[in-house]
This record gives sequence, structure tokens and C-alpha cells, in this order.
Amino acid sequence: MVVYLDYQSTTPCDKRVLEAMLPYFSENFGNPHSTHLLGIKANEAVEIARQQIASLIKAEDPREIIFTSGATESNNLAIKGVAHYYGSKKKKIITSVIEHKCVLEACRSLSAEGYEIVFAPVLSNGIVDLDFLKNTIDDNTLLVSIMMVNNEIGTIQPVAEISELCRNHHAFFHCDASQAVGKIPVDVKYFDLMSMSGHKIYGPKGIGALYIRMNPRIRLTPLFMGGGQERGVRSGTLAVPLCVGIGKACEIAAQEMNSEYTRLLELKNYFIDRIFSNLTKVYLNGDREKRIPGCLNFSFEGVEGEGMMLGMPEICVSSGSACTSASLEPSYVLKAISIREDLAHCSLRIGLGRYTSKEEVTYATDKIISVVNRLRSMSPLW
Ligand SMILES: *Cc1c(COP(=O)(O)O)cnc(C)c1O
Repeated sequence: MVVYLDYQSTTPCDKRVLEAMLPYFSENFGNPHSTHLLGIKANEAVEIARQQIASLIKAEDPREIIFTSGATESNNLAIKGVAHYYGSKKKKIITSVIEHKCVLEACRSLSAEGYEIVFAPVLSNGIVDLDFLKNTIDDNTLLVSIMMVNNEIGTIQPVAEISELCRNHHAFFHCDASQAVGKIPVDVKYFDLMSMSGHKIYGPKGIGALYIRMNPRIRLTPLFMGGGQERGVRSGTLAVPLCVGIGKACEIAAQEMNSEYTRLLELKNYFIDRIFSNLTKVYLNGDREKRIPGCLNFSFEGVEGEGMMLGMPEICVSSGSACTSASLEPSYVLKAISIREDLAHCSLRIGLGRYTSKEEVTYATDKIISVVNRLRSMSPLW
């Protein structure tokens, strides 16, 4: 039995999504920018998808949604696009130390161009330090980029409060909501720009979206030049099947989010209960309450995360974050919440999602418990 518990890294494409996409690879192959019959058909499908996304995130106008290749591109476009368009007036950008690498690196590249980048710390519960934000944001702040849900520890950031701070100082608020959309209610009324990704919500890989507020209108300098598609912000022929896929994924998420949230909450509690009642010296990283149910991050004292993974190859989890686990450096997110260095190496991220069953949780927790006990019994330090 293979148990997939890595839903923060990616999700399988829902069969209903795949079904919706298939005709747009072959029969309905038209270029949505062409004005003939097949072009119009493709364009209609794209516009339905745009509407499905807009409706899930409560955007007033579907034209506020533009398609990208994924959240990495959306984040780069939002941050660099705003910086380059407005940067002659204001130079300060605030982000947080636990953002996804693509946000951190986009900001770093701007600091080389003369922008002032401030990396806001987080408290030990994984929530951004609001007092720091209050003291740092000023009228020279162009942009604040803070995620809604963290991809390693699952904590939910106080976006309403951050939004109010930004509005008080006329700073734009960009939010990477890749791990929030489709899982918890997301409302773009708080944001000026918001990124999301198809493959985190049971849609296809290689597509994402960026919400760009139209009222008042936010302008962006594009990342690359071309035919001027997507309101001139993102040139290139749209990947129609992928657009249809992310749209369908949003439609399904809107219908199933509430019941799925309740189901995952029960599974999460079952998971935690089994771990805590069978093992000592286990720590749940990140706030106990302000988190999504589908993302758990544990530190098992005395047992390296990578070692655990080798001991249970059929359980697909992640030690630290997927992007950093190849380097065996302790995760920068766990460092940022100042857990002990040894505990950062002893962490596993467990993602529960749409296809996770109770049987799988029973099986996986049994495995984890026996691997931890075995590794601890072999460890001279334990
Ligand atoms: C996965 C993820 C990304 C990157 O998304 P892609 O679509 O794979 O480029 C960005 N931010 C967060 C929080 C993510 O979880």
C-alpha cells in the first residue's frame, strides 16, 4: 500500500478536472485569441474558467484574473511587476521570513536593484509578528507580500489585519494564497494582488492565476513581452486545457470545501491523537488553532526526518520542505519559528487531502510509530 501524504507539495489532478480538460487538447484545439469559430469556442472555455476562479475567490470582475504558468510566476509577476511600475516613487517592500522561495528570491533580486526589502519575522507559533509590521510599515512602503497559509507548517496568517495596515499606509498588499485557495474561504477584498496555483487544488500542473485588483486599478510591468494577451500583463498563447482545468478545480473546490474541511479536521484530530497517545517527545510545529487541517508538521525528538522516510518508503511525506529536503539543510521555516536545531532535523510534514482515507491514516500512523520506536531504540543518544 502506498499512502500519499504530501498534498502541500502537489495534488493529483481530480478525474472530473481531467475529463473537462481532454476535449481542449484535440477537438477544441483552437487558439483562444483567433477570431474564427474554433478560436471563439476555445475563448469561451477560457472565459468560463476565469469566471470559476473569480467566483471562488470572490473577485468582482473576472477580468481581474489573469492566467500564468503557476504560483511561482504569479508571485514573480506581482512583486517585480509592481516594483518596476511604481518603484520610482516608493522603494520599500515588506515580506516575511517564511514565504515560499519564489517570493523570497523575487524580493532578493529587487534588493540588488536598489529596493529596500524588509523580511518580517514570525512568532514561535508561525504567525507573522504584527507588532513588527506595525512598526515597520510606513508611507514609503510600496508593497507588502505575505502568504495566507504557510506550505510547511500550515499556519494561517492574519490577512485582514495586514490588509488594514497596508490600506492605512497606501501600500499594496500581495498575498500568495496557493495553500489557502480551495481549502478555506478566500476573499480578495483584503488583497490588491493574489497568487494561486492549479496543482495545489487538484488541477493540472503548469498553470496558475494572479488576481489583480481593477478598482482602484493596479498596474504591473510585465515580466516578458509579446502579443499583449491577458490585458497586456502576460503575453503568450493561453494553455486552454490547463485554463479549463484550473477553472474546473475551482468549481469543485467551491462545492466541496465546507464538507471537505470538516472531514479533514476529523482526520487531522485522529492523526494527532494516535501520534500523541503512542509516542513521547513529539512536537506539533506551528500554532495549534490557526492552521489548516490538511497540513501537519511534527518533530520526533531523536529521529531524523530523512531517516524516518527511508524506514517507511511507502509513506509519501516530506521532511522539511520539498524544495529544501534535497539539501539536508534544516528548513528555513522551522528555523524561523526558532525550534531547536536538532528538532528541525527531526521533522516531517504530513499533508492530508481529498483522497486521504481513515484507513490510510491508521496505516500511516502505525508505520510512523513503529519507525520512530525502532530508530529510537537503535540510537545511542536516545
Ligand atoms: C506550491 C507553491 C508555490 C509554487 O507554485 P507553482 O505553481 O508550483 O509554481 C508558491 N507558493 C506556495 C505557498 C506554494 O505552496
